[in-house]
Amino acid sequence: MDDNRFTRRTAIAGAAAAAALGSAQVAEAKKRKPHKHRRRALTRRADVIVVGAGLAGLTAAREILFKGKSVIVLEARGRVGGRILNHDIGGGHVTELGAEFVGATQDHINGLIDQLKIERFDTYDTGQNIYYTNGSKFTFSDTLPTGAAPVQLAPEAAVAITQLDQMSTSVPLDAPWTAPNAAEWDSQTLYTWLKNNSASPQFMGVASAATEAIFGAEPREISLLFTLFYIAASGNESNPGTFERNFNTRGGGQAQRIVGGTGLIPARMAQALGRRVRLHSPVTRIVQTRTGVTVHTDKLAYHGKRVIVATPPPIAGRISYEPGLSALRDQLTQRMPMGSLMKAEAVYDKPFWRDQGYTGQAISDVGPVKVTFDNSPPDGSVGVLMGFIGGTEARRLTQKSAADQQAAALQSFANYFGDQAKSPKEFVRFNWTTERWNRGCPVSVLAPGTLLDFGEAIRRPEGRIHWAGTETSTYWNGYMDGAVRSGERAAAEALAG
Ligand SMILES: Cc1cc2nc3c(=O)[nH]c(=O)nc-3n(C[C@H](O)[C@H](O)[C@H](O)COP(=O)(O)OP(=O)(O)OC[C@H]3O[C@@H](n4cnc5c(N)ncnc54)[C@H](O)[C@@H]3O)c2cc1C
Repeated sequence: MDDNRFTRRTAIAGAAAAAALGSAQVAEAKKRKPHKHRRRALTRRADVIVVGAGLAGLTAAREILFKGKSVIVLEARGRVGGRILNHDIGGGHVTELGAEFVGATQDHINGLIDQLKIERFDTYDTGQNIYYTNGSKFTFSDTLPTGAAPVQLAPEAAVAITQLDQMSTSVPLDAPWTAPNAAEWDSQTLYTWLKNNSASPQFMGVASAATEAIFGAEPREISLLFTLFYIAASGNESNPGTFERNFNTRGGGQAQRIVGGTGLIPARMAQALGRRVRLHSPVTRIVQTRTGVTVHTDKLAYHGKRVIVATPPPIAGRISYEPGLSALRDQLTQRMPMGSLMKAEAVYDKPFWRDQGYTGQAISDVGPVKVTFDNSPPDGSVGVLMGFIGGTEARRLTQKSAADQQAAALQSFANYFGDQAKSPKEFVRFNWTTERWNRGCPVSVLAPGTLLDFGEAIRRPEGRIHWAGTETSTYWNGYMDGAVRSGERAAAEALAG
């Protein structure tokens, strides 16, 4: 992608970035600012070295700076943001190729957005949702108790969701492996559980559509215990997580979007951190001694008292560690594969589906796109349809030519919103599985046996190494909120060490 867009955008966002650091920090930063004719060599020593400038790494760096300690962030890519990426669609509008939605109980990301003086707006949700099955189209309202799940599948959906919600209440978020039924639940997949509970073929189809969008995976790939943990994590300290809050738009995790796109969040954080963020710096090796850490990139070595690794766990597993990590941690990172997820986005002159009384949200058992949203900018002056292509659908589609991928995705949009959907003025498809520094998304997907036998290593520091990243979060694991929470926790740990 065009990394310079971030540079230009961060320049525009300078004022807001200053607000993000707070006036005291800004005054201090100004004092330390080098004279423009006297170029100082960049220091390679700091109290804490952070690996990865995604939301987790940037949050950790910000916290460390707030506490008056020095920090350097090493980022492999030529841009910040990781799984967050704006895409310019012209006319001053953007759409997001990675994370985009925020919602109720996501207090940490919402708080950060407010501090950065970024605005939110409600996801377009007026009208009827579409349920497409076996070549037939049905409509339903997400104001009904079944929410974003098709009312056509009630009461089956209601029974399954109530049961999953109920089971999830016994899963401790900081130690899911200690749940009373952990062994039983981590010995089966979500697919097995659905089958054992007599799910109909139609319900199995919608369950796949849901897990393809939520995890980039099929129900057969996901441990039941991990599913229950994920549900329990979709809340906060005062509101227990529920499937509804995770999956719904109205009142759920998809309720709101960001004016200017989520890309503004890491861009403004990085702007405030300035030259502490070093791009094009993939970390290859971390060496610990009794007194500190040396963090090696291809070309340079950085020294700190502590290091925070804020990358997805399987990517962290590709770094060399001296001395080696504990066997449990090493084996955990071998068992946390990233989901397979693509986003397809079609841009139209206007959001034509709104005139037909549709929200733009569809759920379907026919691929490749099985879940859609109205991704138009806040003023609706142009229309953007976004579709998730996940799990098996993503793996199959990536093997086709770009033209075939586009045709297949647009056919899905046409199935739901009519033939007009086949003629966008722009089409973008982003495949996260081919991104070297993520190798998939939106989150690591845990198969049976992982949480139970290896889970305890997920956040446990290894000497001077601390682990951040959304996969380490107790609440909103897999989401931006979880990433922010993890950065805050890891920073506190590193500073206490
Ligand atoms: C398609 C998609 C849709 C999503 N939708 C939503 C949504 O609507 N709402 C929501 O809340 N969340 C959503 N998410 C999830 C959200 O994007 C993530 O939870 C969050 O951004 C993760 O942040 P992170 O900092 O933990 O990890 P990352 O964003 O993965 O950051 C890790 C960083 O580390 C860098 N890195 C990796 N290896 C190295 C190395 N060796 N050396 C140096 N740097 C390295 C990477 O380049 C990256 O910048 C979505 C994700 C995707 C991809």
